[in-house]
Amino acid sequence: MTLAETLRARLQERRERNLYRQLKTLAAAPSPRAVVDGRELLTFSSNDYLGLATHPEVIAAQREGASLGAGATASHLVNGHLEIHARLQEKIAEVTGREAALVFSSGYMANIGTICALVGRGDNIISDRLNHASLIDGARLCGAASLRFAHSDLGGMERQLQRAAQNGGNTLVAVDGVYSMDGDLAPLAEMAGLCRRYNAWLMVDEAHGFGAMGSSDLPLAGSVAAAGLDQDAVPVMMGTLGKAAGNAGAFVAGSRELIDYLVQFARPYVYTTGMPPAVAAGCLAAIDVMLREPERRELLKCNIAFFRTRAGALKLPLMESASAIQPLLLGCEKKVMAVAAELQRLGFLVGAIRPPTVPAGTARLRITLTANHTQAQIEALLAALDASLRAFGASAVPV
Ligand code: PMP
Repeated sequence: MTLAETLRARLQERRERNLYRQLKTLAAAPSPRAVVDGRELLTFSSNDYLGLATHPEVIAAQREGASLGAGATASHLVNGHLEIHARLQEKIAEVTGREAALVFSSGYMANIGTICALVGRGDNIISDRLNHASLIDGARLCGAASLRFAHSDLGGMERQLQRAAQNGGNTLVAVDGVYSMDGDLAPLAEMAGLCRRYNAWLMVDEAHGFGAMGSSDLPLAGSVAAAGLDQDAVPVMMGTLGKAAGNAGAFVAGSRELIDYLVQFARPYVYTTGMPPAVAAGCLAAIDVMLREPERRELLKCNIAFFRTRAGALKLPLMESASAIQPLLLGCEKKVMAVAAELQRLGFLVGAIRPPTVPAGTARLRITLTANHTQAQIEALLAALDASLRAFGASAVPV
């Protein structure tokens, strides 16, 4: 087959299975209103949990940061590492309670780079089956024996730790702290206990936890801090700056030695252009706002509780999630697409999530709440959800 014929056939197959992905073009970042195709929609699909993507102070800092140069001009190790990057790393280390941190240009690359630097042939990588694609791809690429366990199943995790001990070599356990398509939290305290017992290294992806949750001492340090775990218990903490920080990029935080090691061995860090200085400046400003305005996390918490109470009363198919990610499990791809289209007609933008992002038969609406939503907006979404789910015969009990 020619290239064109091959592409056409594969795209057609995607369409027939209701798995074809359509790009939506927004006029600007949602706040949470967004203009799509000339129409104003209320969005419940961004990861801008604290509403910082459109915060005037963050945008002003980012503008000012651009005066340092539009781009970093080279990889970090050549001449792409600026003072602003170093300051951001120090700030991240401080707010995560770690000795040091390293900034990557994306979370995807941070995960792949870190896993491949830490384990390889002769070692083991143990993962939760619902891990984010970037952790899965890191596990595939690194060359270590890849062992998986059912979602948050501690018994399954322990069995894989035993297998890994028989295999020999080093063992890295990698999990999401907050699951990106489910919203639930990993049982991190128990997982850290198991890792200690089996001498394995725990890596937690805090993409959806950083900035949105933490402890009273470290309010931004995510589910790891919420579980009361320090650097010894979770030696490798990864987080992204594209979600609660409202920007782009990512970090790994841990011991000074871990960071020094990643600078030497994490190929997606070494061989890529440094983060634009403006982005680093915007991220620094976002972290300042996060620290100075704890009410944003409080508002988010209230919105989550409000949504769950009202959705529960309407018997919407909620999942077990205490985070800003509140999926409604519908099961069937076709139904998810129809309900999402109806919601858009009614003025709401909600993510329709289908395989391969989630397992077959578990297609869902992914509703994300932010500190910028008002209760009236959430009420309006709930009324639209109730009406569209009824219209398309989506049962309250997940199928
Ligand atoms: N990990 C998780 C859990 C994520 O949800 C994402 C973003 N979708 C990433 C990693 C990748 O981060 P980035 O968008 O910065 O590449």
